[in-house]
Amino acid sequence: MSASAGEWLRIHAFVPESYANGPGRRAVVWVQGCSLGCPGCFNPATHSLTYGRVVLVDELFSDIAALTERVEGLTLSGGEPLQQRRGVLALLRRIRCETSLSVVVLTGYSWEEFLSFPESDELSKLVDVVIAGRYESSRNLASSLRGSANKTVHRITNRYQSSDLQDGPAAEVIISETGDLISTGIKPVLFKIV
Ligand code: SF4
Repeated sequence: MSASAGEWLRIHAFVPESYANGPGRRAVVWVQGCSLGCPGCFNPATHSLTYGRVVLVDELFSDIAALTERVEGLTLSGGEPLQQRRGVLALLRRIRCETSLSVVVLTGYSWEEFLSFPESDELSKLVDVVIAGRYESSRNLASSLRGSANKTVHRITNRYQSSDLQDGPAAEVIISETGDLISTGIKPVLFKIV
């Protein structure tokens, strides 16, 4: 039995391949649930703690590990990944120990808040890049994985250079296996129903 047996995450969505959520081609998990309440947040559907679906960490890990020939890393976004630190840690321990995937975390918490979490030391050993800070709509930026100019970039390992974080598209539309359109990226396309 793995150490993460029984651990779970409430997630909003999982996309196996994306180019707009970090360097290269990446799997992306959007965690469900965020209480930070940034005015102008472009993904309010991720806020509720009752929406989304609960997945076992071991099952999610298996889905991600099966992609290691197709993607170079995993991005955790939200919602707020750091409001589910227990499940996030359980997932990232396995990612770090059992794969060579890089890990990027997009959080609404500031870097100072990140460091104040009791889990910050271990988290720092499990991730390559953290993009930190609330979204401030008045400082909208949509560049280098930063939705607004106040957000800070923390390259914890030397796996990526600053330029690597600037290369991807700001927006992306993915057609899922079921035919759904998924809009992602730091400046996602907003669909208009006519
Ligand atoms: S932290 Fe992210 S998901 Fe949460 S309200 Fe702010 S922008 Fe939205």
